[in-house]
Amino acid sequence: MRDTVDIRILLAAPRGFCAGVERAIRAVEDAIDRFGAPVFVRHEIVHNDHVVARLRERGAVFVDRLSEADPERPIIFSAHGVPKAVPRAAEAQGRTYIDATCPLVSKVHAEARRFHERGHSIALIGHANHPEIIGTLGQLPRGAATVIETPEDAEAFAPTDPDKVAYVTQTTLSVDDTAAMLDILRARFPALKGPAKGDICYATSNRQEAVKAIAAEAEAVLVVGCAQSSNSNRLVETARAAGCPRAVLVDDPAAPPLAELRGLRTIGVAAGASTPEESVETLIETLRAHLGSARIEEVNVVEEDVSFRPPVIASPQALAG
Ligand code: SF4
Repeated sequence: MRDTVDIRILLAAPRGFCAGVERAIRAVEDAIDRFGAPVFVRHEIVHNDHVVARLRERGAVFVDRLSEADPERPIIFSAHGVPKAVPRAAEAQGRTYIDATCPLVSKVHAEARRFHERGHSIALIGHANHPEIIGTLGQLPRGAATVIETPEDAEAFAPTDPDKVAYVTQTTLSVDDTAAMLDILRARFPALKGPAKGDICYATSNRQEAVKAIAAEAEAVLVVGCAQSSNSNRLVETARAAGCPRAVLVDDPAAPPLAELRGLRTIGVAAGASTPEESVETLIETLRAHLGSARIEEVNVVEEDVSFRPPVIASPQALAG
């Protein structure tokens, strides 16, 4: 017989799509509408399998390298950003391209270039294999920046001149973990320079605040998001650090870990910045279907009203006619 316990679902807000993700997805959809299929996309436009599958059905073709894309068709660069050699190569080849790099990632690129031009060694705080870090490193000559992933890396960082050191960060890091690494760098390099307002974006920090707000009360926290999504993984860690050890990433919202949830009365739900709201709705429907009636309580820590202008189409003459 099915369990039919009443449950409370604490729904974190803000959650799901940020302005940069919405802009990038719309850039692909608009390109398909304008140019027809196929339209190529370098890297997954955002780290969400459901979004990628939907765009693939409409005619997007995802590739890892520019060379894999038909030069006669438009190509879109993902929200995570690309090394500057990529748009240069696209221009040199006369391709039509749309750079959907989030403006908040482009801001980090500009900061990194500025610090480098001023002669600073750069500590780039982030995950070495993440496309955003690869894109930021690719704004600078080889060796100009050192990736700092852990407090141990911050302790070991050896700049050329300890008085000329600057940092920039990935936009989707844990606010608290980054602060710990920055404390180490500041203690070691009192002249450390950095961005005036920090690089962790509004969407990342708001979603972390929201998950903290539900984690204290929830017996389990389900973060809807894909394994590749940096900000979704950080939400799981943030929930655990905020007092909910049973925090897990739910990649498939139709298949949450039901066995571990049976008998709980208060379940938290949050979603990373690349997660569509439909996935959250599917998760809630699944919980209701298997765990009984649920009362939804949205816990909103801040209202968001950020939006970005669409990216420009470079070399449109190649296809517009
Ligand atoms: Fe831009 Fe932040 Fe969204 Fe990344 S998570 S796309 S940096 S707004």
